[in-house]
Amino acid sequence: MRRLGYRVVDLVVERALGRGREAVIREGAPEALLEALGGPLPEAPLDADASLDLLADVALAHMQHGDHPRYFARVPGPASFAAILGEWLGTGFNAIATSWGGASGPATLELVVIGWLAELLGLPAHSEGVLVSGGSLANLTAFAVARSEMGPGVAYFTDQTHASLPRNLRALGWGEAHLHRLESDSALRMDLGSLRRAVAEDRARGCSPRLVIATAGTTNTGAVDPLEALADFCAEEGLWLHVDGAYGGPAALTEAGRARLRGMERADSLAVDPHKWLFQPYDAGACFVMRPGALERCFAMHPEYLRDVKAGQGTISFGDRSLELTRRSRAIKLWLSLRTYGAERFREAVARGIALAEYAEARLRAAPDVWEVVSPAQIGVVCFALRGADASEHARRAARLTESGFAAVTSTSLKGRSVLRLCTINPTTTEADIDEVLRRCERGIDGS
Ligand SMILES: *Cc1c(COP(=O)(O)O)cnc(C)c1O
Repeated sequence: MRRLGYRVVDLVVERALGRGREAVIREGAPEALLEALGGPLPEAPLDADASLDLLADVALAHMQHGDHPRYFARVPGPASFAAILGEWLGTGFNAIATSWGGASGPATLELVVIGWLAELLGLPAHSEGVLVSGGSLANLTAFAVARSEMGPGVAYFTDQTHASLPRNLRALGWGEAHLHRLESDSALRMDLGSLRRAVAEDRARGCSPRLVIATAGTTNTGAVDPLEALADFCAEEGLWLHVDGAYGGPAALTEAGRARLRGMERADSLAVDPHKWLFQPYDAGACFVMRPGALERCFAMHPEYLRDVKAGQGTISFGDRSLELTRRSRAIKLWLSLRTYGAERFREAVARGIALAEYAEARLRAAPDVWEVVSPAQIGVVCFALRGADASEHARRAARLTESGFAAVTSTSLKGRSVLRLCTINPTTTEADIDEVLRRCERGIDGS
């Protein structure tokens, strides 16, 4: 156990030290990967060292490395080492975080971590929460709670809402007639006037408006819906305000981000993804609900076979706060990393991500005959276009740069317009990395 365990440590640390030199994304061919990793079901034991090598050199080498300093695609996952250690320890102890009786230690960790995260994000003290696998499940958990508190009815979102949210609503049984997608405004935010009209129209046709879904940092551009105005509107109309902060929520750790996200703390529920911008390895999502007891009202179970693990006053069973009963302790990594680095280091790391996108924007604006900034730097995301590029040119350049292994960049489309996009939340990214990526995007070559 020790020898193989130390080998795993060595493999992970070697890779971490050489991270900047590996290909940012390596994609394999299906036949070659199957040949290397497949084969008949092993009836007899195979050599564990050889299997570890296959895992490290083949299986885990063919991935996007979201923690690479030049991974700017989609949303990076710059996991920190203390968090990785926490994950390892929890797995090594086969930690469970289901009931108080069966897991009072991990339950306390989760309670503490939810409180720390709420404080970091500026949420009210009565916020309650639960850790889940990611933004998708955090949003789904919140929607289930919203319906259990409010009853069925119409949900409002925009064309910039993450695609997993309408999927969640459908999976929970929302019918098409109760999914009201609004066109975003010219800054790609929810338009309060459109929402107001939609709610009035729905009431007029006999439907019950229930749930307004705002985004605090869209995946496309980092745009933040007008949260303060939406919170006012929802309070007036008696609607549940959910904020999807899966990407951008952690921007609230910084002063500038907190100002931009003002109103987020007035939501009835909030999703945040610590495996994106809070430096945790996959997976870690957090669902906050600001109505005390609402999570349990939706999810608590009281079957006879769990009676002996329930406990009394002041105790908490996280298996009663989401659809997961047997669940691992995702709080361990957050707890260990917050203690190891301290909140101030997290704030600096988030601020660095915000500043890097602003740096990229400044570089783009310094070359106005080459670049047009289509969506300015907003909490870590900037979108831009090459002057004179046709619709497919951005995708082609992004693909070529990504294939080269030097960096990963994606293109996206904003109101039908093709753009390149950088998401810059890895605090180990340097200004030189940004300069070189922009140079290679401009040249449209693999940089050689
Ligand atoms: C990533 C993301 C999600 C989905 O979260 P997962 O962790 O991938 O499940 C939802 N909303 C937004 C805004 C996101 O950026």
